[in-house]
Amino acid sequence: MIRPIDPVSLVCPEVRRLSAYHLDLTPCRHKLDQNEVPWDLPRRIKLAVAEGLLDADWARYPDFHGDALRRDLGKLHNWPWEGILVGNGSNELLSTALETMVGPGTEVLGVEPTFGLYRMFVMRSGGIPRFLMRSDLTRPSLFMDELEAEVERNPKRPVLLCTPNNPTGDALPPEWVAALLERLEGPLLLDNAYGEFCRFDYRPLLHKYPHLVLFRTFSKAWSLAGMRLGYLMARPALVSELIKVKLPYNLGHAAVLAGRAVLAEEEEEKRRVRVIVARRAQWARMLAEEGFEVFPSEANFLLIRCASPDKALEVRDGLAARGIRIRDVGHYPGLANCLRVSVGSGMALRETHLALAEIREGKTLTPRPPLPSARPDPRERGRGLRPASIPSVSAPKAEPQFGETVRAATPPSPGGPGVRMGEGPGVRAARVERATKETQIHLALDLDGGPRKIEVPNGFFAHMLQALATHAGLGLDLQAGGDTHVDLHHTVEDVGIALGEALASALGDRRGIVRFAHAYAPLDEALARAVIDLSGRGTFSWNAPREVAAGWVTADFPLTLVADFFQAFADRGRLTLHLDVLTARNGHHAAEAAFKAAALALRSAISVRAGSNEVPSTKGTLSA
Ligand code: PMP
Repeated sequence: MIRPIDPVSLVCPEVRRLSAYHLDLTPCRHKLDQNEVPWDLPRRIKLAVAEGLLDADWARYPDFHGDALRRDLGKLHNWPWEGILVGNGSNELLSTALETMVGPGTEVLGVEPTFGLYRMFVMRSGGIPRFLMRSDLTRPSLFMDELEAEVERNPKRPVLLCTPNNPTGDALPPEWVAALLERLEGPLLLDNAYGEFCRFDYRPLLHKYPHLVLFRTFSKAWSLAGMRLGYLMARPALVSELIKVKLPYNLGHAAVLAGRAVLAEEEEEKRRVRVIVARRAQWARMLAEEGFEVFPSEANFLLIRCASPDKALEVRDGLAARGIRIRDVGHYPGLANCLRVSVGSGMALRETHLALAEIREGKTLTPRPPLPSARPDPRERGRGLRPASIPSVSAPKAEPQFGETVRAATPPSPGGPGVRMGEGPGVRAARVERATKETQIHLALDLDGGPRKIEVPNGFFAHMLQALATHAGLGLDLQAGGDTHVDLHHTVEDVGIALGEALASALGDRRGIVRFAHAYAPLDEALARAVIDLSGRGTFSWNAPREVAAGWVTADFPLTLVADFFQAFADRGRLTLHLDVLTARNGHHAAEAAFKAAALALRSAISVRAGSNEVPSTKGTLSA
């Protein structure tokens, strides 16, 4: 007879006391809880990796230690490749380094609050976490003083620090780290997972200090969290020892190929980092305006503190109900009432702002559907290059937008907030003056043609607006300026808003117009289709082929801005617009074909039906 054994009793008590790492991974509209970047890699890069995988021999083991990738990283950091170790995420390497360097019962110094897995890594290595508590989050020099005192007491103990620190977001100046290294005789494990977003560079310290180990990851700035890839940098002699503890073949073909492919396209990574760093300031400002205490951040996330535990719950759950998932870090030591928010896309910023305002005002909500992930649908395998379908999203109700004023010289016309120019049925023109903290716009529109003068702070955008005005037969006088040093996004979107408002005003009660129209526009290999209904309701639907949808049209103009522009235009112009790029090999052609198709359809839809003065609706009215 087999004696009954509780399998859990076989587990060491220390492990049983730990709680398992758990996160909600169900789809949501905006996933802002894991500090990933919001954009998947361009399909071009993924295809190159897939090609490499097809060529690889799957029956054979990969390289022991991913040497080809180590060599690429050596070039990137100008550091001997033998001093680099690659692993299945930086988590694996943190754990390996601690197992290698921490003897049983050794204390490991650290500081709380910090990355939650450190305690578990230290315990796995047989060490004892001795993590000091930060008493004042706004004064990091305090805990550094305490830490130095601890190091002086016994300089041999390993130290484990995170900079920029998760979840507080602040970073240690390299001089402080150097001062610590001067006193320390044990290893300093410096987790620099968010290093690419930070103004400090710790890599030069590697040249001077043989006891420094620097950890980096491909999971954040490099958009490869799903591939599991991280690395560490240290003196080659130390790496030769760590390599004995790391399991051989810890990286499969896929991770190595993906890592090498993104390194070969470093410019893409730099662009992502630039946009995230610029957006971080916008998120911080928005969150501060919404009344949160916002801690300074050097990473791609922000720590915020709410006024009370109830408020923190209300915000977390209110956002979750609206499809926006952020991280509740209130249970971390010293972080009562705190939440952590990843810096997301422009759309996430707008929707989070609206959601927070709704929560603040106690408004009920209409939940939005999850945005489709950029991941190709496996069911589409073998069907060739099909457009990535983004279902139409009801336009955000953003009137008025927060912190913005829309100035009009006279009271707005019934058609919209623009000012209708001239009188009588024959005149279809409007003017919009718009000044916000982010943009200043002067726009005069004539639906029946006229001179075109377009001044916007981006050559490609100007080129697109020129195409739109020309092919729609519009007269357009536009001067727009904005905070393009932060991101072009505000300016593009606000021009869309102003043009939409001017269109709505110029159309007035929409009598006598054709209303429904569609058009195709090719540009070489690219083909776009626009279908318009000047219905009086703002709805926008956008599709673009996956291989260009997340890509860049020019160095500072992502194709997603085209969608943002038309979303704003359709919303404020109160029209239904279905804009589909049916095929395109590059972003430039895709954008231009889209603008031209929209222009041609608009030209027909706004045209006047001869002799008609009726409202083109069976209901006798168009919704206002
Ligand atoms: N260190 C820190 C501070 C982190 O926040 C994370 C992930 N959130 C990691 C390491 C782990 O990164 P990886 O995906 O490379 O295992």
